[in-house]
This record gives sequence, C-alpha cells and structure tokens, in this order.
Amino acid sequence: MNKINHDQLLSLEHPFVKVNVKSPSSIPVEKYRSALKLSQKHIEKEISNLTNTITEIIKKSAQGNVDAKQVEVALDAIITRLSTLKRKLRDIRAEESLYAQRTKVRLQHLEEFLSINSLDSDDFARWSRVRLNRILIDYMLRDGFRGSATLLAKSENIEQLVDIELFVQSGKVEQALMRYSCTECLQWCNDNKSGLKKIKSTLEFSLREQEFIELARERRTREAIAYAKKHLTPWQDTHMKEISQVMGLLAFPPDTKCHPYKRLYDKSRWTDLISQFRSNNFALQYFTPEPLLAVTLQAGLAALKTPMCYKPEHRNVNCPVCDPNMLGALATELPLSHHFNSSIVCKISGHIMNEDNLPMALPNNYVYSYNALAEMASLNNDKVTCPRTGSVYDISEIKKVFIS
Ligand SMILES: [Zn+2]
Repeated sequence: MNKINHDQLLSLEHPFVKVNVKSPSSIPVEKYRSALKLSQKHIEKEISNLTNTITEIIKKSAQGNVDAKQVEVALDAIITRLSTLKRKLRDIRAEESLYAQRTKVRLQHLEEFLSINSLDSDDFARWSRVRLNRILIDYMLRDGFRGSATLLAKSENIEQLVDIELFVQSGKVEQALMRYSCTECLQWCNDNKSGLKKIKSTLEFSLREQEFIELARERRTREAIAYAKKHLTPWQDTHMKEISQVMGLLAFPPDTKCHPYKRLYDKSRWTDLISQFRSNNFALQYFTPEPLLAVTLQAGLAALKTPMCYKPEHRNVNCPVCDPNMLGALATELPLSHHFNSSIVCKISGHIMNEDNLPMALPNNYVYSYNALAEMASLNNDKVTCPRTGSVYDISEIKKVFIS
C-alpha cells in the first residue's frame, strides 16, 4: 500500500484556512475574529452609554430634582440606541455565520484527507481531483482569468473552497492601476494600514511617488510641490534619497534623456506598482507568493530531478524532468533530489531494473531491462537491436548482469 504522508501535504495548505479577506462572502479565520471584536466594541460602547445615563437619572432623583419628562426622553434615547445596537449585532452575526460556514467546509475538506491512508484508494483520487481543481482555480485567478475560474468552481461545486471574491476585489485595484489611477490602491492601503505596517510595506510611498511623477509629467509644478510637502515629506526619515531624486523631475521635462529622470517618467513603473500591490496583497492574505500550481509542481519535480536528467544520452522516457521542452524547463533552477538508494533505469522502457525486471547485457556490453528486450524480441523474430549502436543480436545472446 502506498502510504500517505499527511504532514507533508498539509504544509502546503496553510493559506487555505487562514486566508484573510474584507469581502463578506469569503471565508477567513482572521475576518471572523475581527467581526467578533467589532461586536464586542459596539456592545461595550452602548453599555457604557446606558450606565452613564441611568447613573445620571439616579443621581438626579436622589437630589430630588428629577423631571418625569426628561427621564422619558432619556429612556426613549436609550431604547433607540439599543435597537440600533441590536440591528448592528444581527448584521455582524449574519456575516460571522457565513465565515464560520466557509471555514467549516474547508476544515472538513482537510479532515477528509486525514482519514485517507492510501495513495491508491478511490477516496484519495476523488480528494486529489478537488485539490487539483482548487490549485487550477488559484492559478487562473492569479492570471486574471476570473470568468473561467468561476465557471470551474461552479461546475465542480467548490465555490466555498476557493477565493474568487478576493481576486474580484484586488482585480478592481489592479484595473485602476492599469488606467493610471492610484486612488483605489491608496484606499486599499488605508483599509489595510496595520497589516501593511507589519510586513514593512513601501507600497504607499511608491503610489505617492507615482502621483507626484504624474503631476511633474503634466508640468503642474506648483501642485507637485504642494503634493510633495503633504504626501512625500512624511517618508523623509526612510526614503530621503528617493524623495530628492523624484523632486529632480521638477527641473527635467518628460522627454528628458537624462538618467535617472528618464526612468522615473517611464510608464512601466505602473506595471511595477501592480506587481508590488499583488505581492503585498498575497502576503496580507497569507497566500504563497507563487501560484500553488508552481509550488506543487516544483516540489514534485525536485523529488525526481537527478544529474542525469539534462544529458540527452541518459534521457528516461518516463521522467518528466528529462523532457527539456516541457516540465524540464521548469525544473532547471531546482535542487537535485536526495536519493538514499541508487536505482538503474532502462533506457528503452524508462522502468527501474530490479529483481522483477533484471538488468541484461548485450554482447556489446550495453545493459537494458529484461522486460524491454523480451518485448522487442517477441515482435522481431527473437532479434533485439541496441538503441545506442544499432547492432542486432539474438535474444539468446543476452546475459544476466549482477550488481555488487
Ligand atoms: Zn530525469
């Protein structure tokens, strides 16, 4: 039985449960926590207000100067405020149960995996299919194919297991940046202030710098100076060099050939802003910086890669890394796998040679597996052809090889 190593696979699943989103229709343990905090804040505020009002009335009545009309007004105000509180808490509750439901579905998906013990079981095949679809949807979402991702999620009935809403939201910010507008992204920075501070993000500075560059491009010098005073100076302790450089644009027009000003005017900076936003967004949501598809593929390829993979004469037809045009290209930068035992692989069939498929030597001393040679002989009147030299031999001439 092919046993599953649950821990290894689960180590890739952290973002799946932890994802943190502003949108009410997405999951998130983090968001669930902040909803709880918010209701607590509302309750504390109203209770303190209620206690103050009542204490005031009691105090006045003790002094004997309480007016029934005033008390009635005060009590009416309390009732109104409590009704508002009730409505707010109801809304938060609805949101919370949505988060709880999503988190539950995701945990169930992982729990299902923990109950599977064999890689060969139908249960694992079914579970892997869901996982593969999740990974494909993640890949499509990151590449902007939101329509296709939504269709796949719907048709496989796994909408609760993927984060489409999150990408719809971030897609809006990216589209605004493509239209050369920083407004939406600055708003996003404001909404995620504390998170961005934690990851030491400089995205807001880059956006402010870009808005300044656009003013300089249009030669709106006075506005640019006012903008710099308001939005760039707060960063002077950490970004003085960049600020001094960008201020130079006031002297250099957009068609300048002079570096670094030419580079600052370059429109490709907008593409850099999109990448910076993406990586910050992924970091905040506990997403892996690379798509899960790449992460899992790389883990698999690294496990197979050997020093022989890139030598054409040693190509193994069953090894995906040996194919230089497809997966092999992805694996070039990956480390080699760590093999505890060496194994010999047949050049003809790509299968491992062992006691079930013995290594056999031809008279020219080249070694191939018994199964591959026997199959070749059965199709060619007991003759076998060496793929390396083209020499033809009778199957009776092959000899068993003993490895010591
Ligand atoms: Zn290989």
